[in-house]
Amino acid sequence: MNSLQLKNIFTGYFPGDTIKDNYPRQVISGLYSEVAPKTMSSPEMIIYNDDIISDLQLDESYVKSKDFLNLVSGNVVQKGIVSYAMNYGGHQFGHWAGQLGDGRAINLGEIMTDQGIQTIHLKGAGPTPYSRTADGFAVLRSSIREFLCSEAMYHLHVPTTRALALVSTGEQVLRDVMYDGNADYEKGAVLARIAPSFIRFGNFEIWASRRNDEFLKSLADYTIEYHYPHLKDKPAKYLSLFEEITNKTCDMVAEWQRVGFVHGVMNTDNMSVLGLTIDYGPYGWLDNYDPNWTPNTTDLPGRRYRFGNQPVIAQWNLLQLANALYPLIQDKDALKQIIEDFGTRFTEKYQSVMRAKLGLFSQLPADVSLVKRLEQVMFICNMDYTIFFRLLGDINAEMTSQEARSLIEPALYNELIDAHEDLLIAWLETYLIRLKQETVASQVRKSEMSKVNPKYVLRNYMAQLAIEAAESGDYSLIHEIYTMLKHPYDEQHEFHYWFAKRPEWAMNKVGCSMLSCSS
Ligand code: AMP
Ligand code: MG
Repeated sequence: MNSLQLKNIFTGYFPGDTIKDNYPRQVISGLYSEVAPKTMSSPEMIIYNDDIISDLQLDESYVKSKDFLNLVSGNVVQKGIVSYAMNYGGHQFGHWAGQLGDGRAINLGEIMTDQGIQTIHLKGAGPTPYSRTADGFAVLRSSIREFLCSEAMYHLHVPTTRALALVSTGEQVLRDVMYDGNADYEKGAVLARIAPSFIRFGNFEIWASRRNDEFLKSLADYTIEYHYPHLKDKPAKYLSLFEEITNKTCDMVAEWQRVGFVHGVMNTDNMSVLGLTIDYGPYGWLDNYDPNWTPNTTDLPGRRYRFGNQPVIAQWNLLQLANALYPLIQDKDALKQIIEDFGTRFTEKYQSVMRAKLGLFSQLPADVSLVKRLEQVMFICNMDYTIFFRLLGDINAEMTSQEARSLIEPALYNELIDAHEDLLIAWLETYLIRLKQETVASQVRKSEMSKVNPKYVLRNYMAQLAIEAAESGDYSLIHEIYTMLKHPYDEQHEFHYWFAKRPEWAMNKVGCSMLSCSS
């Protein structure tokens, strides 16, 4: 039996909290607190990630054993291993929030693989010194959402932390889903996650805010040693570290825009220093294209985390990271330049993403306005983002605009008034003329477009259906959606019924279009 062999890499590197008792507090003596997961009454495996299991070369018998269940539910910590909650701060909704930390996440240690270090981490494993007034647990609902979405993102080729296993705990957890005083008990769950590291911008911010340059430097050195080792001997290594984090963050957000993903709570404590999508909470996927849409009800007053604002927020978050790293770098102009370059890099990246989505292999100056006009048309005509782009691959330069128009009909949520119909036709006419300037055969173009325009994404209502079935004990939909989302770019005719617009009933339903941070 080939089991996971954990190591104390993070806890062996840094000073930890000198207090060992588990009660909420400000932790100033260390970068983590030693804490054991809470024992769960009757853990049950709901689903595990068979890709990762095979990447890690774990035996099936081990994964199906009590040992593995005990590990991923937090009921047994490996002998000799220090499980720990990380200490971090963060800017939430634009304001410094002070110490936050892993309030319900516990790291089980690290493993060394052929691809380098990986951290195994449990979300919902019980209270920690960072739990503040909350309970330290997670509910089944939000854990299903995170399992499915992180895997969907991975298979869409968007950088992300991954789900390893999802376990129901047998515990009941009290939640007030819409923060309206109607709290109720829900099924508890633990989600085992895996990523090279769960270090966030906020891990740096907390030590900068406390003027602890020693911890700050140590954290930067660790990040370089394990995650950016090629920077180790560079003269301005901390500046280069910031530049690489900036570039990775920029590229990650461009991928979000490509697939229509809205994170929903881009606080700096939810920004990975590895440029991975992290902490799937009140996220959502665009159905109809709307740059102002935010899935998070907590975000509604300012819509700070709306789809169209994600690049600007990423840049703002990077500015907070730059401020935090400043004591190690002391070069304001260089940091400023990197932040400014984010804008240029993002614009270029976004244009190239959109050209690929449109199936344009050559690059013409007018493509910028073609994309801009399309954004307006998709918004005004209330078009489904995923379906529209997927169907666009069926259009070829020889068609009339009316033929092209009928092909994309399934992407429309409502009949168009004449003025909107004219806008759509006018855009299609420009697009068809533009296609004539391409030399690539239309079949090749279609197949290339199908690699960037997914057929299947995790629409909010799909996750909600899987959740409702799971809450009554039926996990089959979780398995079905997981299987489908492993091949989002393939036709998969057997799942064609999921290639559909958001149904009417899901329009204003809690969990489908309205989500809160209450997870
Ligand atoms: P989030 O925005 O969900 O990433 O969480 C922000 C902060 O709140 C982090 O410090 C979390 O660990 C903490 N937190 C969220 N939910 C809980 C919970 N149920 N119990 C304890 N801490 C929590
Ligand atoms: Mg978080």
